[in-house]
Amino acid sequence: MRASDLLHPRPEGLYCPPGDFFIDPVRPVNRALITHGHSDHARSGHGSVLATQQTLDIMGLRYGEDFAGTTQAAMLGETIAIDGVDVTFHPAGHVLGSAQIAVEHQGRRIVASGDYKRQKDATCAPFEPIRCDVFITEATFGLPVFRHPPDTEEIARLLKSAAQFPERSHLVGAYALGKAQRVMRLLRDAGYDKPLYIHGALAKLSAYYQSQGIDLGELEPATVESGGKQDFAGAIVVGPPSAFADRWARRFPDPISCFASGWMRIRQRAKQGGVELPLIISDHADWDELIVTIKQTGAEEIWVTHGREEALVRWCELEGIAARPLHLVGYEDEGD
Ligand SMILES: [Zn+2]
Ligand SMILES: [Zn+2]
Repeated sequence: MRASDLLHPRPEGLYCPPGDFFIDPVRPVNRALITHGHSDHARSGHGSVLATQQTLDIMGLRYGEDFAGTTQAAMLGETIAIDGVDVTFHPAGHVLGSAQIAVEHQGRRIVASGDYKRQKDATCAPFEPIRCDVFITEATFGLPVFRHPPDTEEIARLLKSAAQFPERSHLVGAYALGKAQRVMRLLRDAGYDKPLYIHGALAKLSAYYQSQGIDLGELEPATVESGGKQDFAGAIVVGPPSAFADRWARRFPDPISCFASGWMRIRQRAKQGGVELPLIISDHADWDELIVTIKQTGAEEIWVTHGREEALVRWCELEGIAARPLHLVGYEDEGD
């Protein structure tokens, strides 16, 4: 059996014919295996969903409890047989509950990694390299220009600015699932113990992270109903990036706009977005992590799902590793 007979792209997503399931389908299907809770990978309306318990919980929080016909929780490291195909979930280090999915049949193993990173992150289980014949990787930051600095350095810059401008508020744009909680946790690890103010869009997911044992410290709603503008002098406010463009952001005193994203490596991008304090904090692998990971899997073939596929494919070819882009559509950069 060729690898492409075990898994190949279809308009709905990556399809496994012998197991009759899809991985991270972008359209409703009968049987879906989901790597993680970001909305471009985890959609509602599937007949059945197999995912880690945390990913199922997150989908329930985002879409309501009836997001799928039936659900089944996959334990990390435990193999489940689906019509003779063995599937095993392994941690991906991307966001809480995120997993790579190993698909094994007739002695051939393909690992679909979903989104992943290798930087340490206290808010999720660390990525495990899995030996495989074919490794399916993302390439969100698949260009040598993308090298993410240590997240502790980026958080130190935020705290320095907060100390320097005690009369201003710092508005930190961070995606609602994963990035926001990671930023909060990094602030706590750096010793910041004042309340953090959060936009309502982060409340449910942050409470869920706390319920899973990830201590984010004291979180307060970022609303002015109970007080005045000056209550937020010196405050650090975390919200989804979209919220900073609307009226909500105007309630804070002389705010400094910050954005936590791998894209902040591109100065021009920060400037265009009106970001005064760009924080290069990404939940995706940078260039070095992509190539280290590819080598660690020992895969003789690499398939690239989404992102900057070309440079990574070329790098593989120069290394003597067969590679091709899958051109999957429907994946965005929600969690970058
Ligand atoms: Zn993605
Ligand atoms: Zn993601």
